[in-house]
Amino acid sequence: MRLVMLGPPGAGKGTQATRLATELGIPHLSTGDMLRDAVRRGTELGRKAQSIMEKGELLPDDLVVGIMADALKRDECRRGFLLDGFPRTEGQAQALDTLLQASGQTLDRVALLEVDERELVTRLLSRAAKEGRADDTRDVITRRLKVYEAQTRPVVDYYRVRGVLAEVDGVGTPEEVYRRLRQAATPEIA
Ligand code: AMP
Repeated sequence: MRLVMLGPPGAGKGTQATRLATELGIPHLSTGDMLRDAVRRGTELGRKAQSIMEKGELLPDDLVVGIMADALKRDECRRGFLLDGFPRTEGQAQALDTLLQASGQTLDRVALLEVDERELVTRLLSRAAKEGRADDTRDVITRRLKVYEAQTRPVVDYYRVRGVLAEVDGVGTPEEVYRRLRQAATPEIA
């Protein structure tokens, strides 16, 4: 299975994607996790990424596309993968298509986790209190939601017109949301 998980910050993508990838036995590739790891290790990429992430802005397409291209070359991705937090712009979606086409692959499904904005802000503020992520302050949260609407919404339409989008109601207990996601993302084997 080659899957993508889309959704605004705070929709629960990370938690749900981890569980789904584990159940399906495919690697979970999160650009956000890779970038946070680079920041922690103080690599050149990490130094570039840190201030952009702290502002809630997106890194340049060529940079994240390069990271993803390297990750997708790994042997473990041959049987499939679940992308989380990528693609986030239409340019990234096009670049992903080009990367996959080069090896004769296509995406099986793109799952969109939908949660309304008020609920997202509440969740992100509560995550800020628990995890202390540098990009979970109120101002940055507002910025990240704006960036999502402006730059990532078009990606939803990009996949909708290609007939691979599955919309999932992301409000409910993690277990309820997971059941919906599982059914929507993998109807053949659910
Ligand atoms: P996330 O954990 O997916 O919410 O990502 C955290 C931050 O990493 C984002 O707010 C961006 O600054 C950066 N980031 C993650 N994925 C991407 C991407 N695909 N394109 C550009 N920036 C990204």
